[in-house]
Amino acid sequence: MYDFVIIGGGIVGLSTAMQLIEAYPAAQIVLLEKESGPAQHQTGHNSGVIHAGVYYTPGSLKARFCLQGNLATKAFCQQKNIAYQTCGKMLVATSEIEMTRMQALWERTAANGLQREWLNGEALRQREPNIVGLGGIFFPRSGIVDYKKVAAAMAESFVQAGGKIVYHNEVMALHEEANCVTVGTKHAEYCGRFIVACAGLMADRIVKLLGIKPGFTICPFRGEYFRLTAKNNAIVNHLIYPIPDPSVPFLGVHLTKTIDGGVTIGPNAVLAFKREGYRKQDISLRDTLEMFSNHGIRQVLRQNWNTGWQEMKNSWSKRGYLKLVQKYCPSLTLEDLQYYPAGVRAQAVSTEGKLIDDFLFVTTPRTFHVCNAPSPAATSAIPIGSHIVAQLKTLVAQRSASGSR
Ligand SMILES: Cc1cc2nc3c(=O)[nH]c(=O)nc-3n(C[C@H](O)[C@H](O)[C@H](O)COP(=O)(O)OP(=O)(O)OC[C@H]3O[C@@H](n4cnc5c(N)ncnc54)[C@H](O)[C@@H]3O)c2cc1C
Repeated sequence: MYDFVIIGGGIVGLSTAMQLIEAYPAAQIVLLEKESGPAQHQTGHNSGVIHAGVYYTPGSLKARFCLQGNLATKAFCQQKNIAYQTCGKMLVATSEIEMTRMQALWERTAANGLQREWLNGEALRQREPNIVGLGGIFFPRSGIVDYKKVAAAMAESFVQAGGKIVYHNEVMALHEEANCVTVGTKHAEYCGRFIVACAGLMADRIVKLLGIKPGFTICPFRGEYFRLTAKNNAIVNHLIYPIPDPSVPFLGVHLTKTIDGGVTIGPNAVLAFKREGYRKQDISLRDTLEMFSNHGIRQVLRQNWNTGWQEMKNSWSKRGYLKLVQKYCPSLTLEDLQYYPAGVRAQAVSTEGKLIDDFLFVTTPRTFHVCNAPSPAATSAIPIGSHIVAQLKTLVAQRSASGSR
């Protein structure tokens, strides 16, 4: 019998595992991952930004965890000797409506306690000679890292502290009883006193294994990138982001410096027809049918069909994609854009048809599920893990008080 079984070897599951074994050094803890190694889905296919916490509703979990996570991620990297850079991020407004939206973000970031600097057009040009805009806001604390390396270091810490990771082990069944939860995989059965599920794109399916209705469904959105040719590696000094449209939950195609010295453009946000499909042509019949037969997702698609259609068009047209970036970086041409692998976001949609904005957790007496952990969950993984450990301590105390283990 294990004390804790963790499902999912992305950054959230691994951060939780690492902190859980610190909190319970004598506990038997196993992490089950279906792939051959850590970080093979969202954690290994993202922009690599250590976010500062610009966009999030004051008081939300995202706002709180991102602010803490920015510092915690950098501290972890220092401790583990993982390369990161605090290169800062520039939000750029290119029209009057974006200037108005930028003012709203300025106020929101004050409420979130962020360090920032307002720049007029001239100041923006001086900092970023290749970027055009009417003005911008500079956030000095934003940074970059390779989250695969962060996740791998977390896995190593967990194993060194006595934890066990079993790869190639997909969880296919869950059965919760009064004293334990049985976890069935393709190859074995595990009994755990408590289960933590951090299954990213499969979060709703794991909840359903318990025979309960999750109240949300995962809608996969592919984020496609290009990498700039090496001659453009110094085209920007900071991360460059457009002012996001507040009616859309994604940040807009941005120019991101990468920790290996390159620059990427992206990601866009295209409805994906396969949850873990990284190429345009990847289609899963099961995932597609499930998506279109879901009332909530159909509502979201109906409400956002115009944006969705634009994203789809630009996904197929490199020229259309380029235009989005040329708005603020006009010197780029089609020849500058090279292939770069895409990622797929796990975005939870409520039964009522709303894109769930904040991080979302669902619990039963012996299980804890991370149900919505989109960006900035890589930045926030350490505080999310601490939050889960604190919740588990409460569950453990409640069980002990009621006389069961
Ligand atoms: C395109 C893109 C760009 C992003 N950019 C950023 C960024 O710059 N900064 C930032 O902070 N965040 C960013 N994010 C978000 C961030 O990557 C995710 O929020 C974070 O990686 C979520 O981690 P996770 O552990 O929850 O999920 P994942 O990394 O997806 O891990 C879930 C794991 O669960 C496993 N699993 C699923 N089902 C089972 C099962 N049945 N049995 C066993 N294992 C299972 C999967 O194989 C997977 O390894 C981005 C995301 C995307 C897609």
